Amino acid sequence: AKELGKNTFQFYRADKSAAATRQFMLEGYLRKALAKNEFELYYQPKMNIKTGELIGMEALLRWNHPELGMVSPADFIPLAEETGLIVPIGEWVIQTACLQNKKWQDEGFLPLKVSVNLSARQFQHNLVDKVSLALTFSGLAPHWLELEITESILMQNEETIISILDDLKQMGVLISIDDFGTGYCSLSYLKHFPLDTLKIAQPFVRDLSKGTVDSAIATALITLGHSLGLNVIAEGVETTGQLRILQDQQCDEIQGYILSKPLSSHDFARWLNTEAS
Ligand code: C2E
Ligand code: CA
Ligand code: CA
Repeated sequence: AKELGKNTFQFYRADKSAAATRQFMLEGYLRKALAKNEFELYYQPKMNIKTGELIGMEALLRWNHPELGMVSPADFIPLAEETGLIVPIGEWVIQTACLQNKKWQDEGFLPLKVSVNLSARQFQHNLVDKVSLALTFSGLAPHWLELEITESILMQNEETIISILDDLKQMGVLISIDDFGTGYCSLSYLKHFPLDTLKIAQPFVRDLSKGTVDSAIATALITLGHSLGLNVIAEGVETTGQLRILQDQQCDEIQGYILSKPLSSHDFARWLNTEAS
């Protein structure tokens, strides 16, 4: 019976896909990552292309595991969302971004806004209180914090989301719609939300220089944003060709490798010293 049990167990193990096993391991590691201080925020600059001024930076989460090395957000954020771990992790992100930004301001760097990505789950767990606490604790003025949310979050539970966003706006925090154009938000839908910025998704920026359909979509998205009175930023800008077209199309801001890839806080401060002087 003992033999049989062992075989059954092995059979069961072999039956499990390698992907599922990896997922299970990752989940175990992810549960301990916060306590073990394995997370780090990287920062990527944003620039106003009408004035050439640096205006902000996006905080992007990195997980450095001692054995796995750098795990990509594309691998662990969906897992963190499924397990709910994104709630405490996201809270850490908001706090850390506010503290870092205030620290840079106190050190005399050009004041910039810091943008933080939010997941849908965070809207179900006292988001307003957590943001308020992070601002109070860090001493960062609210207008130096921006929250990036996706269209899919807006479409989830309209009434609740509007009321949370209204509270955040009241506080003075800025709101940006991330990956715009990839969801299904209509113009009439968008106008219900208290937004400041519309961020054009990378796929529409990628093929901009070819003068294709994407270029027409980008033009339409910029016009749409402006007609709603919003600031428009394009992400994933890599080439001067893309930049020139975006300037022609009256896009307000850009973010992308053309300025810099995301950098550790140490490297970002160095970048600011050389770039912004
Ligand atoms: P996102 O919010 O759309 O962030 C932009 C992604 O594009 C980043 O990937 C960034 O490194 C990359 N990127 C920036 N410039 C360029 C460029 O010029 N060319 C190309 N090809 N890529 C560029 P990253 O850092 O791997 O983040 C992936 C996604 O993970 C983010 O997409 C965001 O949805 C999510 N994420 C990152 N940090 C957080 C976080 O703190 N909380 C939550 N909820 N999600 C996060
Ligand atoms: Ca983002
Ligand atoms: Ca994006």
